[in-house]
Amino acid sequence: MTHLSEIELLDRLVGFNTVSSRSNLDIVDFIKTYLAGFGVESVIIPDATGTKANLFATIGPADRPGYVLSGHTDVVPVDGQNWSRDPFAMWRENDRLYGRGTSDMKGFLACMLAGVPAMLKEPLAAPIHFAFSYDEEVGCLGVYDIVEHMTKALPPQLAVFVGEPTGMGVVGGHKGSTGLITTVTGKACHSSRPDLGVNAIFHAHDLIGELHGYAAELRAAPEAGSPFELPYTTVSVGVIQGGTARNAIPGDCAFQWDIRATKAGVVEALVERFRAFSDEKVVPAMRQGFADSTVATSFAYDVPPLVPDAGSHAETLAKRFAGRNEVTTVNYGSEAGIFQAAGMPTIVCGPGRDSEAHITDEWIAVEQLERCVGFIDKLIDHARHA
Ligand SMILES: [Zn+2]
Repeated sequence: MTHLSEIELLDRLVGFNTVSSRSNLDIVDFIKTYLAGFGVESVIIPDATGTKANLFATIGPADRPGYVLSGHTDVVPVDGQNWSRDPFAMWRENDRLYGRGTSDMKGFLACMLAGVPAMLKEPLAAPIHFAFSYDEEVGCLGVYDIVEHMTKALPPQLAVFVGEPTGMGVVGGHKGSTGLITTVTGKACHSSRPDLGVNAIFHAHDLIGELHGYAAELRAAPEAGSPFELPYTTVSVGVIQGGTARNAIPGDCAFQWDIRATKAGVVEALVERFRAFSDEKVVPAMRQGFADSTVATSFAYDVPPLVPDAGSHAETLAKRFAGRNEVTTVNYGSEAGIFQAAGMPTIVCGPGRDSEAHITDEWIAVEQLERCVGFIDKLIDHARHA
């Protein structure tokens, strides 16, 4: 394949509609073909349905510890957004490139791929790995299989760079992001005879009150020295569904809730406490009215926090490559915590800004792509001599 610039590559990548609900196999095939054009082999790691896949590739000596560039191929939906043009056909106005995913995060993917010829020009002493995932935007579901592949097939890596849009600033930490659903099952009946049923909404209300209590408790005890803007773990309920009519006792109620944890272990402790409250207080009360009443809580996703690791190899290199002195934290979650939890020093640094991502007429500045190419060039130079 001929060498494409990062802007040409971004144009191609944006052209694939990879909203998380859809298959990403076309973009994976494009990347695989592009890499194969340079003689670089890809490992395709499909999901259970076969409609989505991760792609992992290595340039350089895979048997040595190396560096990982990581990005997700999926993008957030455009539903309900009034775009000025087709979100999946990139357009340029002055120094801005518009299209879904330009910032989050196909701009980074384009820079990774544009770096391939330079990575191959001279032998690398340490390998550079490419990790392309699916389903990041719906709970970082795909990347786990990449991490599993890496830990089984490769030596431990020196540093992972996750290219979420940070304006090419160095981000060393973010909170975790955990999604849960609790389903409350009582017994439906007519509202004139509540004694014959078990009101699932009333009992869901008790459970939600318990969560409300956790939220207040955490807020009242901010963590000293926390690197986060909001220096405590947050808990919230975002969706409630239940009932069919005002004059009916609802037999079912479900609610979705969210935890943004500041550190590892917090989620497990909160969920255990919630389950204990449910098992000891709520379920016994429900079963007095109907023996088969249940409360079930399950995880929709559980993205671990990226815990700031001052002075880590990833942080030191990212500061040098990006020409930055400061390391910050962000409010959104990413795949970085999953790499870190597997023992790899990880940092988030990528082109574009989160304020420009996910929006109508998402865009990225050309200057951001140039900075990212500069970052990757410095990484390549480092990997040659490392
Ligand atoms: Zn992203």
